Amino acid sequence: MAKILIVEDEVKIARFVELELKYEGYEVEIANDGRTGLEKALKDDVDLVLLDIMLPGLSGIEVCRRVRLESKVPIIMLTAKDDVTDKVAGLDTGADDYMTKPFAIEELLARIRVALNRHSKEKQEVKTDVLKYGELEINLASHSVHYGKDEVTLTKKEYELLEYLLRNKNIAMTREQLLNNVWDYEYFGDTNVVDVYIRYLRQKIDDKYGIHLINTVRGVGYIIRDEK
Ligand code: CA
Repeated sequence: MAKILIVEDEVKIARFVELELKYEGYEVEIANDGRTGLEKALKDDVDLVLLDIMLPGLSGIEVCRRVRLESKVPIIMLTAKDDVTDKVAGLDTGADDYMTKPFAIEELLARIRVALNRHSKEKQEVKTDVLKYGELEINLASHSVHYGKDEVTLTKKEYELLEYLLRNKNIAMTREQLLNNVWDYEYFGDTNVVDVYIRYLRQKIDDKYGIHLINTVRGVGYIIRDEK
């Protein structure tokens, strides 16, 4: 059964929702503040996040934004009042849905089912093991890259950087994020290595095939956008 993470500082509400979800057969985890919520939401075994907006420490909006940098886990925001700006902000940062408190538990359960279904369908669709960008094709199982019929030979890091950017298509990635996620080490102030590898990738793909794959986002980092 799916595991649902409740990020909510109001203990009574968290407890109430937990009981209802468990009654429905879901596994439940609770975090009472934003930071713990973020940590737990990024674990692989969480299938859906119920995320309160007004949280101590890190707000729900900020948690949502950071989760979205790394994960597509469904997020349903819980807004305390019927605040349109909160809703817009939540959906803008990548939440799947929102509910206004107080809510009817039946409605929440229905929305949870919808979000879980939608997500499992998307998961099946991307299970093809291939990422594509125009003529460019990345085979995730064999770690090979082709442009049309040409094989593009990449080093391990070049490959991982390309895969990471493609998996996060349309999201601008900072150099720090790329370092943390592709090189697996913390940011110590020198992000030149990212630029160097971006240059390698551009030589091997953009320049060679005359396409515009990797875009620089000034003051931020890099992005691969949908092909036009
Ligand atoms: Ca709250």
